[in-house]
Amino acid sequence: MMVIMKPGHTREDFDAVMSRIKEVGLDGHAIIGVERTVIGVVGLDREHPELSDDIEVMPGVESTVPISSPFKLCSREFRKDDTIVNVNGVRIGEGTVTIMAGPCAVESEEQLMMTAKAMKERGASILRGGAFKPRTSPYSFRGLEEDGLKLLAQARQETGLPVVTEVMSETTVQLIAKYADILQIGTRNAQNFFLLEEVAKAHKPVLLKRGMSSSIQEWLLAAEYILAKGNRNVILCERGIRTFETAARNTMDINAIPLVKELSHLPVVADPSHGTGKRRLVEPVGLGMIAAGADGLILEVHPSPEHALSDGAQSLTFELFSSVMENVAKVAAAVGKKMEREAAAV
Ligand code: PEP
Ligand code: MN
Repeated sequence: MMVIMKPGHTREDFDAVMSRIKEVGLDGHAIIGVERTVIGVVGLDREHPELSDDIEVMPGVESTVPISSPFKLCSREFRKDDTIVNVNGVRIGEGTVTIMAGPCAVESEEQLMMTAKAMKERGASILRGGAFKPRTSPYSFRGLEEDGLKLLAQARQETGLPVVTEVMSETTVQLIAKYADILQIGTRNAQNFFLLEEVAKAHKPVLLKRGMSSSIQEWLLAAEYILAKGNRNVILCERGIRTFETAARNTMDINAIPLVKELSHLPVVADPSHGTGKRRLVEPVGLGMIAAGADGLILEVHPSPEHALSDGAQSLTFELFSSVMENVAKVAAAVGKKMEREAAAV
């Protein structure tokens, strides 16, 4: 349920409502807006039949309203305005198209610095790169781990681009949070609920990929785990789902973009690299996702994709990345948005 406070309520009114919520073992999450304050009340789905009646008659309270969707804090019902996630001054959400780009995995200093500089020059706003890699086979390259994180921090230092990297286990959250600006939850861990909660507690923005077999509702409930721990800086990422179709690596769910925008206030970006698995499909599918309302793209780029230690087939060359950027800017303009770097410059 949501508690809508009256305009002009006092701090004491607000505190009293929060205490009443705590008393019954629930949590209150407030949005303090210019016009109104709303408190989202969440916790175990037990019945509290008297609570809304009790709260409605408290001083400073205008009304209480149930939230009908199963996800609460990430729902549009709770928050009407789009959430804009701010990562060291880089905006993700409403009105801008933000490009995150870089290699699938950090492989060496030379590979990462070269890519980071090229991404910066060519208009990306955030650098991506995996240091802990989830691989289907235990014999595949699994990342440089902490050495990879150090290289990401060095690349940020040299380019000014914030970095996003994946967290696979609860035991590495603190380590990765020391180096990264955005913590990524990959598709394979999208419903690893203890990990989601641990990552939430690091108080860094979280990029939450959609589970490869998650429904939109399951994906938003996964986001809810993070918001319920008090971290509102969640960026959703559609990266394709598993279907009967095997012609591409995954099936990119374009429906998810406008649907998630209706259901949630969180920003949503798209990953056409993992969504397609094929370099030549990355641009057309990426453009489609932006046209459908995605707030940005996350793209895999490698100085020499044929030598990449992971995901070479879907990695763009620097030249192809430039072409994607040029056309994404055109589609962004067509849907009334600015490229983030352009917007930041004015
Ligand atoms: C990645 O971004 O490198 C990655 C492993 O993605 P996903 O979890 O979507 O497969
Ligand atoms: Mn990859």
